[in-house]
Amino acid sequence: MDLKKFEYWFIVGSQDLYGDAALKQVAEHARIMADEFNKDSLISGTVVLKPTAITPYAIRGLFEEANASEKCAGIITWMHTFSPSKMWIQGLAMNRKPLLHLHTQFNRNIPWAAIDMDFMNLNQSAHGDREHGHIHARMRLPRKVVAGFWQDREVRRRMGVWMRAAAARLDGMNTAVLRLGDNMREVAVTEGDKVEAQIKFGWQVNTWGIGDLTAHLSKVSDGQAEELAKNYAVSYELAPDLAKPGKARSAMLEQAKIEIALKEMLFEEHAGAFTTTFQDLHGLSQLPGLAAQRLMEQGYGFGAEGDWKQSMLTRCAKVMASGLAGGVSFMEDYTYHFEPGKEAALGAHMLEICPSISQGKPRIEVHPLGIGAKADPARMVFDAAPGPAVLATLIDLGGRFRMIVNEIETVKIEDAMPKLPVARALWKPYPNLGEAAEAWILAGGTHHSVYTSALTDEYFRDWAEMSGIEFVFIGRGTKPDRLRDELRWNEAYWMDR
Ligand code: MN
Repeated sequence: MDLKKFEYWFIVGSQDLYGDAALKQVAEHARIMADEFNKDSLISGTVVLKPTAITPYAIRGLFEEANASEKCAGIITWMHTFSPSKMWIQGLAMNRKPLLHLHTQFNRNIPWAAIDMDFMNLNQSAHGDREHGHIHARMRLPRKVVAGFWQDREVRRRMGVWMRAAAARLDGMNTAVLRLGDNMREVAVTEGDKVEAQIKFGWQVNTWGIGDLTAHLSKVSDGQAEELAKNYAVSYELAPDLAKPGKARSAMLEQAKIEIALKEMLFEEHAGAFTTTFQDLHGLSQLPGLAAQRLMEQGYGFGAEGDWKQSMLTRCAKVMASGLAGGVSFMEDYTYHFEPGKEAALGAHMLEICPSISQGKPRIEVHPLGIGAKADPARMVFDAAPGPAVLATLIDLGGRFRMIVNEIETVKIEDAMPKLPVARALWKPYPNLGEAAEAWILAGGTHHSVYTSALTDEYFRDWAEMSGIEFVFIGRGTKPDRLRDELRWNEAYWMDR
């Protein structure tokens, strides 16, 4: 996805006490900054400079305009001078866009020899932004504060992270998740309040019958499947029995048909994500394995067993990670390795892991699947690339959503696993396997998550903040007992939010 289509309105505050010459300089500095931001690849979207904000009516007007804009994904404010913040109350009160408070100043250094009172008046964000931040705090507004010199890489990186999170939020408001069937019978953690999800995230969470998919599937020709299989042969390695006609190749071609049919449905319903469940596959000969992997690779969110929350979160992460190195996949904690000093978790799913996280060229294979009572499905098999990654999950606690993120280090799989033909990742979670698992379980985290080597916790933190939901982080400094307290304190804060 091209994130440049998302606009971030840069609203620079001042007041009319300083005279036209000073206001002209404010506007000129803001223009230079906006231009420089737009040249930097760390700035994912398009920064759009708005007229300097100096009256309550103009400020309210800007926020009204932003709310109505389909392109505006967020608002960046910065007070070049002092800008009394009671002027901002009406605008901020109605604002529905994510807010970034950039605390910076145009000049890097104090011009020691030349500085006079005029310079001080013009370049006083050090106190103007404190007045501005006060009204945000007083109004309990969700926001990100980024402080530092505007040309510094770290400042721009943090702005870029927030922009990507805001792009995912706006994308979510225009995206449906297509549920094929309900969630897996008796499972608690894949349940959730679909109405609340739409209120909080804008997600449209609706269900279609599996018959809708099989109706599309029946219209896909053998020729279309063969055509798509040509792409498979270019992008992936094919197991030897898949290259020639026979049962295995037919199984792969069936997945190609499912991919085509699913993609048609996703397009028709304006859906950016989907779910399947192995308990509702009437009319399909295989569980969508390769098809789900392929669609994830193309940017769609996916959740197995009807897990629409992780499906949409996968979609969010795909949008946030657009153009970045690394991948994003639906994931599941499967089994542990408890060998002292080498403790690790093995993540996989029955089939549906996205090849964007693969270390090498994935290989398409066909094997029996012991669950779902269907034909042997085609799937891509690979190991996830080693390196830093995070796991993120979204749960419904009844009354509110909670996001949990765990920092992990994916490691090389040293031993062959010839009898396990699925895509998999082996990781060491922080602070360590035992404490990370204790913390995750105390927080109520699901076995399903979004795995990404392209993003850090900061992206999810920003997204949770702008979505108005609880965020729980498990990382290097986490102590489970302390986290237990934090979770209990959070109960009070998040009550009725
Ligand atoms: Mn699962």
